[in-house]
Amino acid sequence: MTSPTPHIAIIGTGIIGISTAYYLAKSFGQSKITLIDRDQPMAFTSAQSGENYRNWWPHPAMVAFTNRSIDLLEEIARQSRNRINMNRRGYALATRDSTIDALVSQLHDGLGSSADSLLRYHTGATANSYAPFDKPDWEGVPDGVDILQNQSLIRERFPSYDPEIQSIIHIRRAGDISGQQLGMHMLDYLKEAGAKRVVGEVKSIDTGDGFRIALATASGTEVLEADQIVNAAGPFADKIAEMLGVALPVYHTFQQKVAFEDRAGAIPRALPFSIDLDGQKIDWSPEERDMLLEDPDFAWLAQDMPGAIHCRPDGGDNGKWIKLGWAYNDTPAAATWDQQLDENFPDIVLRGASRLQPALKAYYGQLPRNMHHYGGWYTMTEENWPLIGTMGPEGAFMNCALSGFGTMAACAAGELCAATISGDELPDYAPCFSLARYEDADLMAALQAANKGVL
Ligand SMILES: Cc1cc2nc3c(=O)[nH]c(=O)nc-3n(C[C@H](O)[C@H](O)[C@H](O)COP(=O)(O)OP(=O)(O)OC[C@H]3O[C@@H](n4cnc5c(N)ncnc54)[C@H](O)[C@@H]3O)c2cc1C
Repeated sequence: MTSPTPHIAIIGTGIIGISTAYYLAKSFGQSKITLIDRDQPMAFTSAQSGENYRNWWPHPAMVAFTNRSIDLLEEIARQSRNRINMNRRGYALATRDSTIDALVSQLHDGLGSSADSLLRYHTGATANSYAPFDKPDWEGVPDGVDILQNQSLIRERFPSYDPEIQSIIHIRRAGDISGQQLGMHMLDYLKEAGAKRVVGEVKSIDTGDGFRIALATASGTEVLEADQIVNAAGPFADKIAEMLGVALPVYHTFQQKVAFEDRAGAIPRALPFSIDLDGQKIDWSPEERDMLLEDPDFAWLAQDMPGAIHCRPDGGDNGKWIKLGWAYNDTPAAATWDQQLDENFPDIVLRGASRLQPALKAYYGQLPRNMHHYGGWYTMTEENWPLIGTMGPEGAFMNCALSGFGTMAACAAGELCAATISGDELPDYAPCFSLARYEDADLMAALQAANKGVL
C-alpha cells in the first residue's frame, strides 16, 4: 500500500512560494498544495523587484544556482513564447580604473576552471569577436564575459557612458524578465494542477502530528491543517520560523528604486543593465553640499558614497521608461508591511546615476511627475546566500532570504525546495543553501571574507 499524498501548505505567495508550489506540482506531481497569503499573489516584495538576472557571482555555488535558475527561466520563455519578456543584453560593469585585477580574480573565483574559456579580452579598437547587444532577443547571445579596455571600442559601443570609463566587464548571461508574468505563468499552471489558495494572515502554528495553522481571515480565525509546511514568507520568514521555535539568521534592509519616462532620450534603448562600480561623491552644487554638511542627519549625503548604482531601459525597445537603483542602505531594520520610502531618494539616485550617464542631468530638478518611486525589503543572511531546506520540526521547510536576487533565483530555489520536500536527489549546491552550511567553519570563513554581491 502506498502512503497517502501529504497535504503541503506554503506560507507566502510571492515568487518564491509560487515557484516552490510550481515545481512541486510540475516535477513531483503534487496536487495537494494550499498557498496561503494575507494578500493577493505577487503583491509584496515580489512586486518591487527590479526584475534583473545575471549569473555573475563571486562563488561557484551561487554561479551554479543562478545558472540553473536561468536555464529554467529560458525553458519557460521557450514554452510560453516568451510570456516572461526575457531579454539578454547583459550586465555592463563600468569603472574608471584601468587596473581590474581584483575584479578579474573575482570572476575566476566564481567561474572556476571554466573561467579561461569564458573570459574574452578585447584590447584592440575593433573587436569582431565582441558579439553585439542590439537585438532584443534572449536567444543566440554568447555566454561568458567580455572585457573591454580599449577606449575607442568603449566609446563606440557605449557612447552614453562617462568618457572617463576605462574598463567594462560585460556579463553576457544576464538581462531582465517580467517577474509578474513569471508568477502568473506559474499560477495558471497551479490552478490547472488543482492547487488551492487561501487568503489569511498566519498568526500561530501548532505542531505534533502535522501542523495546525491559525489564520486571521476576513471571516474570522480559521485553522488549516497540513502534513508539511513551507516558510516562504519573504521579509516575515523569521516571524514564521519563530512560531515553530526556530531562529533564522536573517536581517532586513529597505531598498528603493525609481522608474520614469525618459522623455529626453538620455538612455539608449539597447543599453545593457549598467552598473557604475566606482564609489563617488554625489554631484551637488557647492551650496547644496554646504547645506547638507551642516545637517547631521544629511551630512552623509555629501560624503563618500558606495559604488554599484545602476540604470537600465525598461519596457522594451519601443518603450520609453528607465529604472534606476542604488542599494546603499545597509542599516538593518525590523520588516514592516508599509513602505519606508525616503522622499530624497529620487534626487539622490538620479544624481548618482548621472555620473555614468551624464545625459541624465537633463532631469535635475525636473523628474517627471508620473515617476514611480518604490521599494521593499532585502531579507538576507550575513553572507548573502539564501536559506532553502529543512527548518526545525519534521515536515517544516524554508525557502527564504532571497535578498536582491529572488526573481532571478526563483526557479532554482523553487525546484530545490520541492526536491528537498519530495526526498529527491539534490544538486551539489544544496548543502550550501541549507542551515547545514553554518556547521562548515571553513566555508563560512571564506564567505565572510568574500564580496557579498549585493546590488
Ligand atoms: C527594490 C528591490 C529591487 C529588487 N530587484 C531585484 C532584481 O532586480 N532581481 C532579482 O532577482 N531580485 C530583485 N529583488 C529581490 C526580489 O524581489 C525578492 O528576493 C523576492 O521578491 C522575494 O520573494 P519572496 O516570495 O521571498 O517574498 P515576498 O514577495 O515578500 O512574498 C512573501 C509573501 O509572504 C506573505 N506573508 C508573510 N508573512 C505572512 C503571514 N504571517 N501570513 C500570511 N502571509 C504572509 C506576504 O504577504 C508576501 O506576499 C529586489 C527586491 C527589492 C526590494
